[in-house]
Amino acid sequence: MNVGFIGIGQMGGPMSRHVLEAGYELTVHDLRKDAGKYLLDKGAKWADTPKAVAGTCRVVISCLPTPIQVQEVVYGTHGLMGGWNTGDIYVDMSTNSPTVIRQVAKDAKAMGVAVLDAPVTGGTRGAEDGTLAIMVGGDKLCLEKVRQVLQAMGNKIFHVGDVGCGNVAKLVNNLISLTNNTICAQAFVLGVKAGIDPQILWEITTSGTANNWNLQQYPQTVFQGNFEPGFRLSLGFKDIGLAIQLGREYGVPLLVGAAVEQSLLEAKAAGFEDKSVDAVALYLEKLVGVKVRSAKK
Ligand code: NAD
Repeated sequence: MNVGFIGIGQMGGPMSRHVLEAGYELTVHDLRKDAGKYLLDKGAKWADTPKAVAGTCRVVISCLPTPIQVQEVVYGTHGLMGGWNTGDIYVDMSTNSPTVIRQVAKDAKAMGVAVLDAPVTGGTRGAEDGTLAIMVGGDKLCLEKVRQVLQAMGNKIFHVGDVGCGNVAKLVNNLISLTNNTICAQAFVLGVKAGIDPQILWEITTSGTANNWNLQQYPQTVFQGNFEPGFRLSLGFKDIGLAIQLGREYGVPLLVGAAVEQSLLEAKAAGFEDKSVDAVALYLEKLVGVKVRSAKK
């Protein structure tokens, strides 16, 4: 099977490498040709446009920053729609708006093309290790056709429901994880400002009811002053915005989510949008004049 992959950044790069290493013929495309060099060295082919990818691959995967880029790649002048053939499958693994991917699926169906949304969780480490959890929305039979390709990238594949449901699950996941991210930053800056050693505080909180995935990463991230992405703050801001938009569409108030969005916006306005989402802690540290650091990894 010839697989196309569009968007080979922090996530899509290692994800597509796993597809190649699993033995599929791989064609890649990105706005940055240099991003694909190591994949081309390993035998992948390059395509200059999404249309060219769709022209040669029966399965096309994308992993793009926001709904805007997904729409560009599908509907743009040299977009996928110009190259699709009946029977093709498009799997969007970006964290996207459920509404946008449902519209894409509707338009693709008119051309005989099936669409799955299959966003992921597990971070860049999960992408590197091929251990992502993948949440899939769309036709079950279509999922079976691409299951083995997805298994190259992840070890937990969930069929969530119709197209769009994968992203509903992902936005719910990120609403929780981004809330953890903000409250951990606030709580640790408070603890350190009030005189507690961050390492002891971490051992207590990870042993108790405060434990969560974000906190578990602190010895490698905040404690080291390591705010390089990983998961860019601008993408976290996009995800919380998409979750709040979904809340608006369904009439569900998200009071805590709205506060988290403002917290990410503060850090973004302070110039940290290309740092990792952990930079909400960096912003607070600068605001109150402490550093949450510990040498122990
Ligand atoms: P990234 O910015 O590192 O990668 C995106 C890639 O898409 C870049 O290489 C960029 O050049 C390319 N691109 C942008 N517009 C394009 C276009 N019009 N045509 C072709 N290529 C284009 O972002 P990422 O961290 O890899 O995230 C990708 C998606 O995965 C996002 O939706 C993000 O929310 C989601 N995600 C990220 C993480 C993470 O930890 N980084 C975890 C889970 C999900």
